[in-house]
Amino acid sequence: MWQSIIHYGLHFSLPLLVAILFYRSQWKKAFLIMIAMMVVDIDHLLADPIFDPGRCSVGFHFLHTYWAIGVYFICAFIKPLRLFSLGLLLHMVADFTDCWMMGTW
Ligand SMILES: [Zn+2]
Repeated sequence: MWQSIIHYGLHFSLPLLVAILFYRSQWKKAFLIMIAMMVVDIDHLLADPIFDPGRCSVGFHFLHTYWAIGVYFICAFIKPLRLFSLGLLLHMVADFTDCWMMGTW
C-alpha cells in the first residue's frame, strides 16, 4: 500500500519539482506536458496480464525498454522535445523506484 502511494506520488511530484525549478514562468504548462507523458503506460495494454503488481515495468514493456529510454534521453537534447523527454524520463524513474522497492530489479 505505502509502495503505491510512493509510486504515484513520484509520478506527480517529480514533474512538479522539475517544472517549478526549471520552468518557473510556465510551470503549469510544463507540469501538464510532463504528466501527460504517463500515456507511455499504454504499452501495458499489450502485456498479458495487463496489470501485474509484482512485475517491473522498466525493461519489460515496449515503451519502457532500455533502448526506448535511450531514445527519450537523446530527445532531451532537442529543445522542442525536451519537456516530453523529461516527462518520460521522470516516469521511468518513478517506475524504476517501484521495481527497486519490490526488489525486482
Ligand atoms: Zn510506466
